[in-house]
Amino acid sequence: MMVAGLLIPILANYYYINGLSSYGIDLGPVSMSITFIFHGAALLTFQMFNVAPIARETVFESMKEGVIVLNQQSLIVDYNHGMCKVIPLLDEHTIGKSITSVLNGNHHLREIIDLKQDSDFTCSINGDMVHYHIGFSPVFNKSNLPIGQIITFADVTERVLMLEKLKQLASLDGLTQILNRTFFIKKTEILFDALSREGGSVSIIMFDIDHFKNVNDTFGHEAGDAVIMLVANTAKEYIREGDLLGRYGGEEFIVCLPNTALPTAYELADVIRDKVSESIAEVNGEKISVTCSFGVTHASIEAGDRGHSIQTLMPRADQALYAAKKSGRNCVRIIA
Ligand code: GH3
Ligand code: MG
Ligand code: MG
Repeated sequence: MMVAGLLIPILANYYYINGLSSYGIDLGPVSMSITFIFHGAALLTFQMFNVAPIARETVFESMKEGVIVLNQQSLIVDYNHGMCKVIPLLDEHTIGKSITSVLNGNHHLREIIDLKQDSDFTCSINGDMVHYHIGFSPVFNKSNLPIGQIITFADVTERVLMLEKLKQLASLDGLTQILNRTFFIKKTEILFDALSREGGSVSIIMFDIDHFKNVNDTFGHEAGDAVIMLVANTAKEYIREGDLLGRYGGEEFIVCLPNTALPTAYELADVIRDKVSESIAEVNGEKISVTCSFGVTHASIEAGDRGHSIQTLMPRADQALYAAKKSGRNCVRIIA
């Protein structure tokens, strides 16, 4: 329309210069008016003042979130740069192709997109684990009929890592970095749930530092802390994967050993006892050595038997520990 508008004055001048216009009238001013009408119509009809195309380029492309637009048949209509990180196979040739064919090797993401439900998704990008929150928003036409969907991939890695760190901080004892009492109980509850469903056995070891008050009184509280750390680290070294070690009180520890026979639990307690008695904490040039007393108990759990829990077993382990203290300390006692 604009080109046509520009041609009109040229034609009008051609007619005028060659003496072809009727009565020798100069058609210049009239042709200019027609040009303006053509230009005006072009600008208004094709919305050339509309900023939407510029916004698409600058906003859509520079969004941190990856965005992909699908139509009702799940064919790719558009995507932004951020999306290429998640689906590297995306390029201009994939426009118009089915998202399912592009995600052929990525079954998990395919399932999420098929389900069309907001969910979390983790993938590895250049060797780093990246966590995304995937959101689905339907797109409607002017008659309010669904014509497709916008899928956004928001990078929530920082938030996920922060939550993991907070969870870890809430579950560990600040001094020894082993499970704190609350978290130890929580973990064992999950374990006992599984044991009472499937059946199995469990052993519990409770141990307490002997004459610990003397350490505090003789060498100070800081030295006491170092001794608690030394005992916790020694126990940590000898428990097996799957065993739960917690700091139950000030200088009192507890170990939960799933599917472990009583003799094995006794042996493990005795190894920890032996290693603690051999190790030395050095604080401000002072060499401090302590011993621990141990109480061990055990329970066999039938599938479906919900009568056992850490609360029912702990008094028995505690009684055994008391018996060890009574027997002169630095020993292991059993109450089965
Ligand atoms: P026993 O052999 O009978 O266990 O005697 P004990 O002296 O070890 O036991 P007692 O219960 O009399 O003393 C425990 C002491 O542990 C008392 C308390 O001040 C100290 N304690 C508790 N928590 C901490 C801690 O986190 N750091 C330090 N340094 N001391 C602690
Ligand atoms: Mg003690
Ligand atoms: Mg104690």
